[in-house]
Amino acid sequence: MHSCDSAIIPQKRVEYHRKYYREHRQERLESSRKYSREHPKETAERGRKYRREHPKEITERSLKYYREHRPERLEYSQKYSREHPKERAEYSRKYVPEHRKEITERCRKYRREHLKEITERRQKYRRKVLEKLGGKCARCGFSDVRTLQIDHVHGGGGKERKELGHGSTQFHKKVLADTEGKYQLLCANCNWIKRVENNEENAQKMLGVKNWI
Ligand SMILES: [Zn+2]
Repeated sequence: MHSCDSAIIPQKRVEYHRKYYREHRQERLESSRKYSREHPKETAERGRKYRREHPKEITERSLKYYREHRPERLEYSQKYSREHPKERAEYSRKYVPEHRKEITERCRKYRREHLKEITERRQKYRRKVLEKLGGKCARCGFSDVRTLQIDHVHGGGGKERKELGHGSTQFHKKVLADTEGKYQLLCANCNWIKRVENNEENAQKMLGVKNWI
């Protein structure tokens, strides 16, 4: 710590001090570390005082740091999550209900700002899914990708769609990971016909039709 008040000494002197500090960075760091080690009580008190008096600067500096070190931080936290799945799940269970509003807001902001990437990612997964499932309707063979929908061969799709979100990457990943043949492609026509036949998701009620002929 320097005892001079830089506000009242002439500019030249300020510059001289700055230059000195810049050029002797390593020694200064070492000597201040030595001081901290030898005077832990005073150092802690000084830290508390600084934090009390400069909350704004501290927030700004840490935000700046977070912004500038985003990739490393992401990598670190992903690694931690992988290695501590239990602790991570416990943390989410506690954090999510308490911060639901912020999370929703943050997600909306992210979606607004990354619309293009999100669409591209979704399309990439959809393309992979279409390829895996044969690229055409399992019933009639119609292959216009604009009409093709992912169908659950044995039903139960409504529940899963509700859980994972229709057309979501998570759902697509699940389809890609499936090895039991749980999914197939149906064109929109065949999908509706199947729903009516099985009365899936109250298809008749949704279409407002009671008797088909
Ligand atoms: Zn079809």
